[in-house]
Amino acid sequence: MIRYPLGFDTPTASLCSMSVVVPVFNEEAVLAAFHQRLKEVLAKLDEKVEVLYVDDGSSDGTFLILQNLQALEKQVSVVRLSRNFGKEQAMSAGLRLAQGDAVILIDVDLQDPPELIASMVVAWRDGADIVNMRRRSRAGESWFKMATAYAFYRVMNMLSEVPVPPDVGDFRLLDRRVVAALNLLSERGRFMKGLFAWVGFRQVTLDYDRAPRAAGSSKWRYWRLFNFAIEGITSFSTAPLKVATYVGLLSAALSFAYAVYFLVKTLLLGDSAQGFPTLIVCILLLGGLQLMAIGVLGEYLGRLFVEAKARPLYLIDVYTPAPAIASTTLPSPASVAR
Ligand code: UDP
Ligand code: MG
Repeated sequence: MIRYPLGFDTPTASLCSMSVVVPVFNEEAVLAAFHQRLKEVLAKLDEKVEVLYVDDGSSDGTFLILQNLQALEKQVSVVRLSRNFGKEQAMSAGLRLAQGDAVILIDVDLQDPPELIASMVVAWRDGADIVNMRRRSRAGESWFKMATAYAFYRVMNMLSEVPVPPDVGDFRLLDRRVVAALNLLSERGRFMKGLFAWVGFRQVTLDYDRAPRAAGSSKWRYWRLFNFAIEGITSFSTAPLKVATYVGLLSAALSFAYAVYFLVKTLLLGDSAQGFPTLIVCILLLGGLQLMAIGVLGEYLGRLFVEAKARPLYLIDVYTPAPAIASTTLPSPASVAR
């Protein structure tokens, strides 16, 4: 086992033809079943494959299971981050450490069927640099999650310059040169779906039916992120900047209601103090809009604040490359994971 306090450089030469990168966070319930299914799929492929599990600071028995898997199988690599950094960071760590000529990102909960890897590899061997997997259907997901996901992709594409393909999650295959390009991007706000779209290259999209989670529970990251923000308010967070946005929205809405009230009252009972209704409504509305605009500025300033600190994306606690590739020289551990 090699212990790396900080991070890693991008491997210069690829040591196997494919890496399957699997971010895992408290997944002891499903891990063994996933690996079994993946193994059956990989056995049928004519490729030298590494399976790289990224333990995103699990607090259950996940890491122990991974160590046992590695003791049994030569193709399993394991990296453990120093704490839970979130799926996007875990994927970034996986992309950095993966050794293959192609990298497949897949969830461990069997929502992305490993059986599809065969057709992804065919598309890659046919010349695709990125094979996107588009969800035709999503069994076992709540209507709320599906509705918010649907709205998200539509709004995102209205606002962003690079179109993000709708209904494509993180399940995809990336060629080595795409991985190298992604490793160059140093931003801390890692919205991976946007980054995948931004790098470009030859993209192919395949459709599939998304299965329900096999076991364990969804980590519902939005809510967790929200809690983290409150926790870190004093030292880390820019959340107070957001207050202006919400207060502004609220006062703009209230002053609109107030305007309607005054309009009706004036029409029915007349205007006792000349011009007062117009004046009060104007003041409140403008005040609300100004607060909202400051809030929007705050959102961007907050992001700059995070980027300016330029902290590493993640920290690695332990990295154990697969025995099958470990004999080859590994890159220097001295540099920070950026
Ligand atoms: N995951 C992770 N870090 C986290 C949360 C999730 O590595 O902080 C992993 C998780 O183990 C799984 C994948 O990301 O392999 C997708 O997570 P989940 O199924 O909870 O998300 P959902 O499918 O509900 O969006
Ligand atoms: Mg899931």
